[in-house]
Amino acid sequence: MDRFEFHRAKDPADAFRWSEASRERTGGGSYIAGGTNLVDYMTLDVMRPSVLIDINDLRHAYGRIERMSDRLRLGALVRMSEAEDDPVIHRDCPVLHQSLAQAASRQIRNVASLGGNVLQRTRCEYFRETSWPCNKRNPGSGCAALGGVCRQHAVLGTSEHCIAAYAGDFGQALIALDATLETLDGSSGRRRRMPFADLHRLPGDSPHLETTLHPGELITFIEVPMAPWLYRSRYIKIRDRQSYQFALASAAVALDMDGETVREARIALGGVTTVPWRAREAEAYLRGKALDEAAAAEAARIAFSTARAQPQNAFKVILGQRTLIRALRETAQIEIGR
Ligand code: SF4
Repeated sequence: MDRFEFHRAKDPADAFRWSEASRERTGGGSYIAGGTNLVDYMTLDVMRPSVLIDINDLRHAYGRIERMSDRLRLGALVRMSEAEDDPVIHRDCPVLHQSLAQAASRQIRNVASLGGNVLQRTRCEYFRETSWPCNKRNPGSGCAALGGVCRQHAVLGTSEHCIAAYAGDFGQALIALDATLETLDGSSGRRRRMPFADLHRLPGDSPHLETTLHPGELITFIEVPMAPWLYRSRYIKIRDRQSYQFALASAAVALDMDGETVREARIALGGVTTVPWRAREAEAYLRGKALDEAAAAEAARIAFSTARAQPQNAFKVILGQRTLIRALRETAQIEIGR
């Protein structure tokens, strides 16, 4: 691990000052909250920030969960376990609760922040080991996963430059629920709002550019609309072992039903995609249909119709469809007792 400076920010202005100064002096610093992803990658020499700016003291501003009549407002510095344990999220937002409860280990969730979680980087083995070519870690060097070991990699949203899977769970729930992000831009001090769906970039020909955040921009809040489909929602995660493992395939589903008929479906996929992935064509297919086994299977077929698999991860096309079918069928059976 390289040497680095460490500064503890007192407030957002202080954090931005350190961020600006580190960019001018050394080419870049990094905010740190829980550090569960960043420190991991620093010890592997994959990430080498010259300055770390500790933002944990900003929890007085961004460390609360606010329940409003029309939305849930989650501070970006809320710990994953705090959101998981929140009684309203547990009772009224199953897909949010389940996506948090199935992520990483409880020890990690006790320190990892929500804002950091949505920015977590891929687990691609070649990204994590600096001796391999990797366009995401070292732009232009190539992609060792193509033709290499790629059982865990993505089949949707890939490019010829990168096929790494997005590693998170919570992001799938957020994109399914039309969540919004609020950020503070470090250089202007301005507040910015954006759909969560606009945060992550597809790899394309520049997989090293992973988000649309500006340099020094800080995620401050995540907002989730309190909509009818929130109560009837579910997150299914399939993995090699049932504890502390990343998804091979996952599906976040939220349904607004009129009896047996789908009024609106919201579907997101994970484990099989390079970014949190909304399956909008499958959603459109289900609108106005009874959600029986055949309709769920057709929606799943549509959701994976653009999949491009490698020999080692072709099983994910089938597994992903089965995961989505199960998520749709189980979500449709949820009784709304209110
Ligand atoms: Fe790097 Fe992406 Fe290829 Fe993995 S899949 S080696 S992260 S370029």
